Parts: sequence; C-alpha cells; structure tokens
Amino acid sequence: MLRQVAEGVLVHESEFVQSNAIVVQGHDGVLLIDPGVQDHEMVCLANDLAELGQPVVAGFSTHPDWDHLLWHARFGTAPRYGTARCAAAVRAELANPGAKAEITAHLESTGIAERVPLDLYGLITALPAETIPWAGPRVRIIEHQAHAPGHAALVIEERGVLVAGDMLSDVLVPMLDLGDTADPIEDYLAALRLLAGVAEEVEVVVPGHGSVGGTAELHARIERDRAYVLALREGRVPSDPRVGPSAKPGWEWVSDVHDGQARRLAERNERGGSRG
Ligand SMILES: [Zn+2]
Repeated sequence: MLRQVAEGVLVHESEFVQSNAIVVQGHDGVLLIDPGVQDHEMVCLANDLAELGQPVVAGFSTHPDWDHLLWHARFGTAPRYGTARCAAAVRAELANPGAKAEITAHLESTGIAERVPLDLYGLITALPAETIPWAGPRVRIIEHQAHAPGHAALVIEERGVLVAGDMLSDVLVPMLDLGDTADPIEDYLAALRLLAGVAEEVEVVVPGHGSVGGTAELHARIERDRAYVLALREGRVPSDPRVGPSAKPGWEWVSDVHDGQARRLAERNERGGSRG
C-alpha cells in the first residue's frame, strides 16, 4: 500500500525491517528510490503504480547494501542510479561469481531468502552528478562517508523531503562502516553534520528503515544518533531507546548490532594502538 508523506511523494513499507521504498511523482512517471525487498511487495508496488498510470522512469539506490539494490522486472527497464562509489562497490561485489549465493545464504536466518529476487540485483549506473537526471522535482544528492561506501541521502527540494538512506532511523542505531575506513566515527559525525545542514530545507524525513518523521523528529533523530556515536567513541554504554530493555518488541536484535560494532571498534582501537 502506498502512503503519501508529502505532495507527490509516497512510501511503500516492507514487512522486512520496516524498509521504505520511496516513490516521487514526476512529469511522465515516477522516480523509485530503494525499490523494496520481497517479491510480492515489489509486485504490489508495481500494481499500485500501474493503477495510477505511473511508469517508473528512473531508479536510485541510496547505498550498496543488498536490501537497497533490488529490482523487479515489473518496474521495467528505467536507468537505476547510485553514486559512483556505490556503483563501484556493487560492481566489485558482483565480480565474485558467488555473490548472489552469498546473499541468499545470508538471508537463510531471516526466513525470506526464497522471496528476494536477485535476477536484477545491483544493476546500478554511476551518477557523478549532484542531482538525479529526470523529468520531475529537483532531487539533490547528499553523498557522505557513513554506513556504507558512497552512501547518499537525497533532498527532494520542491517537496521538502529528506530521504535519509540508512541514517536517521527511529528503530535502528547508527551502523558504522567498519570496512576499509580510516575513522568511521568521525565520518559518521561529519555525515550527521551534513544532514543537520539540510534540515532547515525539509519538513519530512524518510529513513531507509523505520517511521517517517516531521521536523521535530528530524532534529531529535540527528541529536540521538550523534549521542549514540559519541558514546561509542568513548566506549560508554549509550542510553538510547533503540538498545536494551526499551527497544520496541521485535527489535531486540538491534542490541546485538550495537554489541557487535562496539566490540569491533574496540578491536580496531587496540590494533591502532599497537601500530602506533
Ligand atoms: Zn545499509
């Protein structure tokens, strides 16, 4: 079911980790951002768009994580964009012939493996531009180094909407890019500053996972995420509603995500210390 969150901007929510697919109405069709996760959900979205007489004229993936790189044949053959770094990361992933099998194996524990179509996975065209080339409201790309390589938030300028990718969630804590990065904490704080810098332009925030929020919520989420990352940096246990006993029912696993990245950061610091 499509839900309008601003004029000409609609959200289709997945039952998998409350993932949001975002639809932006343009002149001759829609821009589809992070299209969805499960086969039947994407078919549902395709049916909704067909009913509205709105073909998909462009796609965009906010970052190179599997649940943001899917596509369904019913969406057609419009170009699917991502930042240059995002596209390069997917290309590198798909250079491994076992990449899709690895995703399926990773999904075994979630119980949705057979419902995630991978045929059209990751066919992303690198976009060096600062805006998405399409016939519709101007969509500005806010690229930053946090969570995943080439992660991008989008500002849908004439609609006052911030599409945050996997940042600013009310259910997931900040998940740092602990891969090949020099200073994931500082990167994340810089990205939050960047998002704070566009907060005055928007009235609605749509996270990759979680609830859509208004202006007050946007500011609260930036502050909450900053406090979480600072606590991580200082090795403190964050007092955060998303981890520990205050987590929403069904979201208790977010505490495991937190424990895992706290441990990996501590290991990184030890390695860094022994080098210096
Ligand atoms: Zn992600």
